[in-house]
Amino acid sequence: MNGGVEVVGIKIDNVNMDEAAALMEEFLETDRCSMVFTPNSEILLTAVRDREFESILNSGHLVVPDGIGVVIASRFYGTPVKERVAGFDLMMRLMDMADSRGNSVYLLGGREGVAEEAAIKLTESYGNLRIAGTRNGYFEEDSENNIVNEINNSKADILLAALGAPKQEKFIYKHSDKLKVKIAMGVGGSLDVLAGKVKRAPEFYQKAGLEWFYRLVKEPRRIIRVLRIPKFIALAFYDAKLK
Ligand code: UDP
Repeated sequence: MNGGVEVVGIKIDNVNMDEAAALMEEFLETDRCSMVFTPNSEILLTAVRDREFESILNSGHLVVPDGIGVVIASRFYGTPVKERVAGFDLMMRLMDMADSRGNSVYLLGGREGVAEEAAIKLTESYGNLRIAGTRNGYFEEDSENNIVNEINNSKADILLAALGAPKQEKFIYKHSDKLKVKIAMGVGGSLDVLAGKVKRAPEFYQKAGLEWFYRLVKEPRRIIRVLRIPKFIALAFYDAKLK
């Protein structure tokens, strides 16, 4: 943990965006598969109820606070995190790095065609970034070994797993010993954003910690998910009091 804080039992690194990016650059120089996770309130709430998921998040090499709820919760434990490090932004920093270093990326996840569309968008924006391969995120457990072989044969340096939480973290952890990528990052719905299927909130909402509100207005059925934010904050409040 990089000077971090434990929030509802999950170790969160207290790094800002630049520090997180610098750590990822170091990961690209090693020979192990470094796992990068970006939990938000909803993900942490899932981890509280799922011990396996909790220990997987705690084995991440870089775990950043994605979401205003996690930022608020960290204050209860007396170690406020420096800033929100949004998963999508961190992923784009990794893409900047991959572009300038000439690294290759495998995109796994989303519905049929989403990873391919995201790959087109990435190659349009970046001259040197190499797309090693793409695959949709709907598969049976018994094809996982084939997928891992496909990723390894592609010689990708980076795996972006967009399978939603906790599926993406469980997939990364389960195969981390076999995966030959240097970074495996769980990126949730980020390939949908890259592919233009989902829009991110304008910067004002992001800066004000109101991205959840923007997404709620655009997609009212997210209400169930949004209501988990105050639930998580209350849980963290009581958990911190018990410490
Ligand atoms: N997904 C997938 N396989 C699955 C379930 C989900 O590839 O078995 C994809 C889904 O298509 C979407 C992403 O995972 O692109 C999950 O997005 P979500 O909005 O839940 O993630 P968030 O960004 O909110 O963490």
